[in-house]
Amino acid sequence: MRRQRPTLIAVSTLIAVTLTTAPTPANAQRAAPPDQVTALTAHQADGYTTLAWQPVNGATDYQIERTPVAADNTPTGAPTIVGIWRPNRQINQQAPTFADAGYHPGDTFQWRVRARTGTTEQPYSDPVTATTTAPWGNPTTPGEQLRTGWETTHAAQYTSDTDEYAYTTAIDALSDRVRAVELGRTVQNRPINMLVIGHPTPATTPEAVAATAPVAINCNVHGNEPGDREACLIMARQLAFSTDPRITDLLSHTTVLIVPTINGDGRANNTRGNSTGQDLNRDYSLIRQPETTAYIRMVRDYRPVAGYDGHEFGNSRAGDLPMLPPRHQNVAQPIFDQSQDMIEGHMYAKGAEAGWWACPYGCEGGGNVGLSEETILRNTLGLKNVTNSLLELRSSGGQTRPDEGNTANNRRRKTYSALWTFHQFLDYHRTDILKARTEAIKSQAANTGRLVFRGSRPIPAHPAPHPGDSPPPLDAPPADLILDNAPCAYKLTDAQYNGARTDGPGGVGTTVAQRIAAHGWKVIKTGDGYYVPLNQPERGLIPLLLDTKGVEKLTDGERVYPTLTGRRNGPLVVSGFTCADDATINGPVTVQTGAALVATGTTISGPVSATRAAGVLLADTTVNGPLQITNTTDAISIIDVTIAGPVNLSGNTTGTDAPLLAGNTIRGPLTCTANSTAPTNLGIANTVHGPRTTQCAAL
Ligand SMILES: [Zn+2]
Repeated sequence: MRRQRPTLIAVSTLIAVTLTTAPTPANAQRAAPPDQVTALTAHQADGYTTLAWQPVNGATDYQIERTPVAADNTPTGAPTIVGIWRPNRQINQQAPTFADAGYHPGDTFQWRVRARTGTTEQPYSDPVTATTTAPWGNPTTPGEQLRTGWETTHAAQYTSDTDEYAYTTAIDALSDRVRAVELGRTVQNRPINMLVIGHPTPATTPEAVAATAPVAINCNVHGNEPGDREACLIMARQLAFSTDPRITDLLSHTTVLIVPTINGDGRANNTRGNSTGQDLNRDYSLIRQPETTAYIRMVRDYRPVAGYDGHEFGNSRAGDLPMLPPRHQNVAQPIFDQSQDMIEGHMYAKGAEAGWWACPYGCEGGGNVGLSEETILRNTLGLKNVTNSLLELRSSGGQTRPDEGNTANNRRRKTYSALWTFHQFLDYHRTDILKARTEAIKSQAANTGRLVFRGSRPIPAHPAPHPGDSPPPLDAPPADLILDNAPCAYKLTDAQYNGARTDGPGGVGTTVAQRIAAHGWKVIKTGDGYYVPLNQPERGLIPLLLDTKGVEKLTDGERVYPTLTGRRNGPLVVSGFTCADDATINGPVTVQTGAALVATGTTISGPVSATRAAGVLLADTTVNGPLQITNTTDAISIIDVTIAGPVNLSGNTTGTDAPLLAGNTIRGPLTCTANSTAPTNLGIANTVHGPRTTQCAAL
């Protein structure tokens, strides 16, 4: 096991020593020819073996040879070149490693490695022999003994839908740590299940799970890319039953959300799309399909802070494990930076230790992939302030894994490399993800800066390009897809908001109102229409669906610009929909019955009082006085606001849409009583210099 947490280094190092096989001392001490690989070691992990050796001066590449052997070390098969190590496969060239996978776990092998200088083969290293790690779980321990259909058929068959349901039901029944929940149904009525995993038991409600800063893995959106799903099912068993302190500690501090098969119909039929032919990974923003709708509602309710989305890809020239962050330029910078840190800071470094070749998706002539479509989960999640990455498993062995003509071995390499990645993802869970999310939500809600409808941040080739290498495609936004002057809100007519749609399966689609609700956006209804303000956490995503410039939009909303800017003296009475931006209001503000106030970058000398208003959404604003919001009907959101206080939210009737109070500084008491749904802080604490009572006691 190479999965180490800082507090466990001593123990893990001990384990690593006991599991790593090296040449015998007599061989190791013999004088080696100058171009012979020396100090070869073989370290065993779940489904793969990390080979490591001393580099040879002037080597162009290395060949890894594997030979099956019996217990007495006699060969039982032919030696085979199973790997080619090239300098572009890891960030550090001084300590070459190669993850050999694609064998039956538990079998015994001998490995040798040799350098090549140009095409000249140098002498092989001394051999090392070791027995590989058998599939995880004691075959006689209840729970641990469960195996997937893929495991029991030795990777000859993928786990079927019915096998998956039986397997996850058994895990749920045998482990207190696991609760299987049904998120929805596919078009053909297959359950879309999610495993909610925590220690000693998972939190009981989505809101309680959200408070643990959960992490989510989407295992199989493209039905014909099943390798990640098998890894997820194996990992679920490990998380459910392992007594490894690394696992129990992790599950004591967070919740792991695993969706094995969002596209059950596509998996059952081995098709990329769902049963209607829709590529679901081009639908996460539009949510025309029941599968994507179920996932997006889950993101709204469980609020994962980090995610991985599993795929396979066909470029045989690139790495084992191409990854990519949310690149869309509307993604908040802290989320892009954190995702890049997870990929290039963590995965690339750990990959160089374990021997897996991570690289940016789209590199090495990868074509027009990994772009800025907000319909792709990677980008959708980024626009929802979730640190995340795409994972692509190279479908074929390619030039660096020349012995994957054997289908089962090819599948094993893909699945066990995904299993490694997902465990590394869990180990990355750390507090700075929450910090990035907090900063991102504050910056989004401030509604500043340009909007881009399509266009990505650049991703450099990494490691540094070698001859013939290329970075992912640039995908810069064209000028006509940039809006420098962002509106305050979009206004929709009743027909746009509630009208029947025909863009779903069978020509029956959910309404825009239902899709906006699934995304969790706040909407204000006034006498003249439905307003979707931009001073919300998903500010970067809203225009992509509601602006006329949206490339794949739901409707052509009307841009609504601020009506209050600059300095204004005297009392302000708000009627209708009023938007203040970069304003200074010297006087009390009263929001009338049925009216709405949306403010960003504004200073109000206060007090602010709203009674029976339709909505109050304040962000990046200062209120130098009390704030009282009572009996509001539609929406309340107060983000990153400094309020002299006191603050009182009472009797608001926003239905199931919770009033939002996140990241504010309140210099007085905070009182929340008799609101239809208790206010939430989205996990972003408020600073309150006074007592917090009743519904806001924990905010
Ligand atoms: Zn895919």
